[in-house]
Amino acid sequence: MPEFDATTASLEGTGRATRRELMTLLAADGRQTRALLAAADRVRAAVAGDEVHLRALIEFSSHCRRNCRYCGLRRDNGGLARYRMRPEEIRAAARAAADLGYRTVVLQSGEDAGCDIRQLAHVIGGIKRDREVAVTLAIGERSAEDYAVLRGAGADRFLLRVETSSPALYRRLHPDSEWRDRVRALTVLRRLGYQTGSGVMIGLPGQSLRTLADDLLLLQSLDLDMIGVGPFIPHPATPLAGARAGDLDLALRFIACLRMLCPAALIPATTALAARDPARGWERGLAAGADVLMPNVTPLCYRARYDIYAGKMWNSHAPADFRPRVDDLLARMGRRPGSGPGHSRIRRAVSTARGSEGTARAAVARGRSLRWKEQM
Ligand code: SAH
Ligand code: SF4
Repeated sequence: MPEFDATTASLEGTGRATRRELMTLLAADGRQTRALLAAADRVRAAVAGDEVHLRALIEFSSHCRRNCRYCGLRRDNGGLARYRMRPEEIRAAARAAADLGYRTVVLQSGEDAGCDIRQLAHVIGGIKRDREVAVTLAIGERSAEDYAVLRGAGADRFLLRVETSSPALYRRLHPDSEWRDRVRALTVLRRLGYQTGSGVMIGLPGQSLRTLADDLLLLQSLDLDMIGVGPFIPHPATPLAGARAGDLDLALRFIACLRMLCPAALIPATTALAARDPARGWERGLAAGADVLMPNVTPLCYRARYDIYAGKMWNSHAPADFRPRVDDLLARMGRRPGSGPGHSRIRRAVSTARGSEGTARAAVARGRSLRWKEQM
């Protein structure tokens, strides 16, 4: 058996690979890529079955205090008209998503310093009372105490990408944040009982196959419930406007390796995959090991203003028009929408508790003691 096929077979069989082996897999040619993706698809079918968990994405604020060099929402992008949805608008969008059959809503935003955590907690509590849905947050770095308040209000999951395994590359891309803090935040989130997701971008300027192989090993070692990765896409109003976009095939090989390294993880075919290939990005991700989609249900009037990267507008359909398209795609692929909330396969003892005062108080106390420990 040629070396590439032997390495793929070993990863498929054992769930393990060395950095060098992963570099070989990531560098695959056309035939090898097809074999790698097929192996990941077998692992996905065996571990996750044919269900694809659907997460309704609500981009509720485009304000951001950070200046990440790749992102269109960065603070210094003065050309962007910012918005923050009102609590009742967020709740209405969540209710509408639940009524379309979504069992999870993802509340995503920039790192919005003007976002009142008590108010967001109230929104989360309201969503959980309105409908039986899981709530995922993707709001960036906040204090352990804030995370605890939101968890206490009923948030089930949290997405916070490490973006890269290389602290040096992270420093070059983030003038105002530290890689260490990002990894620490993941630990805090997990200790608070969130189902925790992370991920990286693929094709960042300054990245190499070696960095990417290390990214895979880091993501494996973090024992994550969810792992979201996507190609880097340059945004014209950022310092990386002239950089090359991440390669879609490389991103698919990365997803395939992830599925085999972390068989039980929930892995989305991300929006960035679809932005790189509007016609087939999601389909190709789902055929490479992914088992989650995150359709955008943000009210149409805000979509253009949540301008993280170019080409994001590939899905500018109203939520009700888009849902049947998702169902058609899954049916064509012989897959089906997840029947439950699609909680983590890794920690089964997850809380689906609705918000309650007692829970909130206990979580805040836990958050305080965590923060205290972090400072030691
Ligand atoms: N502010 C929060 C959540 C919103 S950004 C946070 O930073 O965690 C969500 C993700 O979008 C980021 O983690 C990053 O991986 C991705 N992203 C930002 N700019 C991007 C770009 N130009 N191309 C591809 N992905 C990008
Ligand atoms: Fe803000 Fe997140 Fe974009 Fe960084 S990646 S600028 S934190 S929205």
